This record gives sequence, structure tokens and C-alpha cells, in this order.
Amino acid sequence: MLGKYAHLAQSLSGLREAGTNPFTVAFDEILSPTTARLNGQTVVLLGTNNYLGLTFDESCIAAAVSALETEGTGTTGSRIANGTYSAHVALEKQVATFLGRQDAMVFTTGYQANLGIMAALAGRDDHLLLDADSHASIYDGSRLSEAQVTRFRHNDPDDLYRRLRYLADKPGDKLIVVEGIYSMLGDVAPLAEFAAVKRETGAYLLVDEAHSLGVLGEHGRGLQEVAGVEADVDFVVGTFSKSLGSIGGFCASDMPGFEVLRVASRAYMFTASMPPSIAASVTQAFEVMAARPDLRQALTRNAEALYQGLSKAGFRLGPTPSPIVSVRLTKPELAVAFWNKLLARGLYVNLALPPATPARESLLRTSVSAAHSEADIRFAVDAIASVGEELGIIGATVEAAE
Ligand code: PMP
Repeated sequence: MLGKYAHLAQSLSGLREAGTNPFTVAFDEILSPTTARLNGQTVVLLGTNNYLGLTFDESCIAAAVSALETEGTGTTGSRIANGTYSAHVALEKQVATFLGRQDAMVFTTGYQANLGIMAALAGRDDHLLLDADSHASIYDGSRLSEAQVTRFRHNDPDDLYRRLRYLADKPGDKLIVVEGIYSMLGDVAPLAEFAAVKRETGAYLLVDEAHSLGVLGEHGRGLQEVAGVEADVDFVVGTFSKSLGSIGGFCASDMPGFEVLRVASRAYMFTASMPPSIAASVTQAFEVMAARPDLRQALTRNAEALYQGLSKAGFRLGPTPSPIVSVRLTKPELAVAFWNKLLARGLYVNLALPPATPARESLLRTSVSAAHSEADIRFAVDAIASVGEELGIIGATVEAAE
């Protein structure tokens, strides 16, 4: 039965031959939000989604420990059976209040939030309009929904408009699904333009703010806040596994009757709820996020410094500075060698290979945290530039190497 994966197995063994397998990395010890021990060596972590560095926040840990001691290790049940505790209800209130929405539903992961919401909202006769670069959870949610799926060109409101015009006479509701910051290249959706298309065509709009919650906006409400279109966004989806430093997902909305999704969303109903310790830690993380705008400012400073440093060094990057800064390469073998050499210098980044990447590029995906120091960013830029030169990716031989 595994024969169909022969090509994947072959690629994996190629990766093992090239050094450490980037897809089976297991850290020996996590030392801080930005450092770990890996294969006995201390590495700087420049490939996490720990945007605000909250994984070791003392108040979040204290909230989790207290809930762990009083309510136990897990709920052993679904939200619609025995798996709703006061901690889950408090977290849902916290999410709704933070985002200024009537209601919020909390899921066990962000992946499940997309599955559960999209599959429940869109039925067989409805239409989902997905950005071509959507995250796997959005594609998987669209399959589960059995709705008609139309992909539009990445970040292209004109293409979306054309496709919605084409669907204008077709029955069924139309739901546009876009992300705030895209996880591979760190590029940002033209959300004001998408919202204008939504208004003109009468479609609904869902924004997955997984990478932008707590990262963008004066108050951290994501791209919808920056773009000034919160009133146009019908459903906000997000995750607790990035800026909030834990795990879980949510959907928040002002739609009347939203509550019915609790008994219509299968990824909400047919899986165990998050442990109360997680709910307690995330609720506290929202408090920290709201009280510490300086974390967002530090994150933005670090993101700019990394982007400018790598850009000056001569690398091809995503279109704009963001906490995700990807070095774009064409040859996967070169990307694998690059990744291994960085690790040997004590820098951990993510490796993303086709087909999981836009335009089938190979990416060294770096991401910054508010917890990185200026010295960490300088170290990262120097290490990446040195290896880039060593491999002939930057400097005079760039064309030849690529
Ligand atoms: N949506 C997007 C855009 C994501 O990038 C991710 C995670 N990479 C998810 C959803 C899923 O989130 P989680 O890790 O909480 O399952």
C-alpha cells in the first residue's frame, strides 16, 4: 500500500544522505523561545511561529499549571459532550472580546478550525472561492464541504471579481477565503480590495489570520484591522499555535445564529476538546498580547532588520518585509545543502520544498520573534550571507548557481 509513495521515499533517503533530515528534526531540549539544543549543539531558532515569544511567558505557564493541577490533564471528550469546561467558555469570551465580535468558537487546532468552519458553512450547492496559495487546511476544508471550488490567482482581486461575475447567476452562497499573511513568502493579502469585491458581488468573506493575529494592527487584530475592513469580514479564523504560543484554533463572527455551528461542525463535534491547561494559558496569552504592544513593535523591528539584511546581501525574498522572510531558491538540492550548512553554523530555519511551495520554488523560510535580540538577527544575516556566498547563490556567480 505504500508503493504509491515511492517517489517521496526516494526524496527522503536523498535528504538523509545530504545530512540531517529537515523533516524529522527532534530537538533535545528547548532552552528559550529562541534557542534550543539539537544533536548536542545549541542553535538559534529562526524557523518557528513563536512571533511574540510567549512560549515561556511566566504568567501563561502559571495559568496552565494551575488549571492542570485543578482540572487534570485532559477533558477526554468532545465540546458537545463532556469536553466543555469553564476554561473553554472563558477562552471563547476572550477571543470574541479581543476581536470585537459577538461570538467565537474554539477548536482543538487551527487546522480543525478551517476544516470545521468551511465544511459546515459551505454545502454541495455553494461556491468556495479560494486564493490559489491557500494553506492545506483551507483546501482540505473545501474538500470536506463538497462545495464547488473556484481558485483565483494569488492575491489578485481582479481575477476574483471576474470569477465571481461568472458565477453570478449560479445558485448557492459564495464564500471568499483568503489569508492575512501567507506562510511561505510572508506576503500580505490586498484585503481592502478583496473586501470591495465582496461588497460588490454579495459574497461572504472569511479571513484566516493565522500568521497575522497579534502580529499586524495597532491592537493586534490582524490584517483586517490594518486594512480597516473588519465590518466586511464575516468570519475570522485563526490559531493559538503562533503568536499565542500554544495550540488550538478559533472562528469568530457577528453572524446572527452563528451558535448553530456548534452542532453542525463535525471537526468541532467529533474530536476531544483542548485540555483546560491549554485554554487557560491561551486566555492569559491574550491578556499579555493586549497589554504588551511593545512585543509587536520588537517583532516588526526584527522583521525589518532581517529582511533588509538579507535583501542587501543580494538574496531573492518575498515582496515585503514581514515576520516571515523566505530566501527563494530554485534547485531543491541547493536548498537542502544550504539548510544543512546553516544548521552546522548553529542556525535553525525551515526548509520548504515543492510541491508545498508557490511557483515550485525551494525556500529557506525564516521567521522572527519579538524575543530575538539584535545580535540574533545579525548572527542570522551573517550566517545566511556566508553560506550563500559559499554556495555561489549570492555574489558574481548567482546565475550559474541558480
Ligand atoms: N491556517 C494557516 C494559514 C496556517 O499557516 C496554519 C498553520 N501553519 C493553520 C491554519 C493551522 O494552524 P494549526 O497549527 O493551529 O493547526
